[in-house]
Amino acid sequence: MRMMCITAHPDDEAGGFGGTLRLYAEKGTETCVICLTPGQAATNRGGAKDDSELAAMRRKEFAASCEILRVTRSIVLDYPDGKLYRQDLYRVVCDLTLHIREFRPQVILTFGPEGGLTGHTDHSMASVFATLAFHWAGRANRYPDQLSGNITAHCPQKLYFATSDFSLPDRAPITLAPATAIIAIDDYFEAKIAAFKAHESQSALWPRFEGTMRGRRKQEMFHLAASTFSHTSEIETDLFAGTSDSEPVPNAGAIAG
Ligand SMILES: [Zn+2]
Repeated sequence: MRMMCITAHPDDEAGGFGGTLRLYAEKGTETCVICLTPGQAATNRGGAKDDSELAAMRRKEFAASCEILRVTRSIVLDYPDGKLYRQDLYRVVCDLTLHIREFRPQVILTFGPEGGLTGHTDHSMASVFATLAFHWAGRANRYPDQLSGNITAHCPQKLYFATSDFSLPDRAPITLAPATAIIAIDDYFEAKIAAFKAHESQSALWPRFEGTMRGRRKQEMFHLAASTFSHTSEIETDLFAGTSDSEPVPNAGAIAG
């Protein structure tokens, strides 16, 4: 089975999804994290003299974090940090659609359109881009130029937004989607913290992150945003529940536009 996680900044994979990524890797799931920016606009600069030096530093930190989380495939794209809302939507979704068609995940994780606990605009845009790519990757009439050789349309089966049962006290209020899945990460909680701390340039954020995490239940919560099959109202404890390993036949969307 394969799981893809689409984020905006190096450290999102650890802070938002780390326990779940490591848990599924341990179960034998192939995991892929795609981070849209190298995080070059961060407030914490790690001693970097300019944006490109910080970007290079953060790409390495991302790789180290993904190693701790046993991520099978980790990719940092080169979109500008802090400016995802100014990017060409069709082009970013094109990039993500191609990655989905190559990796062929059954399950995709990303932020909710509210932008996660911090409400960051890049998180919101990652959500929008990932959601469109989720829906379009399976349609042969979306980015048909990609469909040649080994690349065929691929329909992922479930899309989840990260959500939470708390908000950060010193941030503007956000409205989160209701949790429909709760993943217990007890065994991988320390790995999540360690992965976050692989982001050494962001060490100023560690105490607050760790304090918030250690004070709460060791779980990650998700909202099922889309699914190729009907869903019961029970809270899920496995993000692959109901999915199938066999490739669903891609929707013959080429006819209807
Ligand atoms: Zn972020």
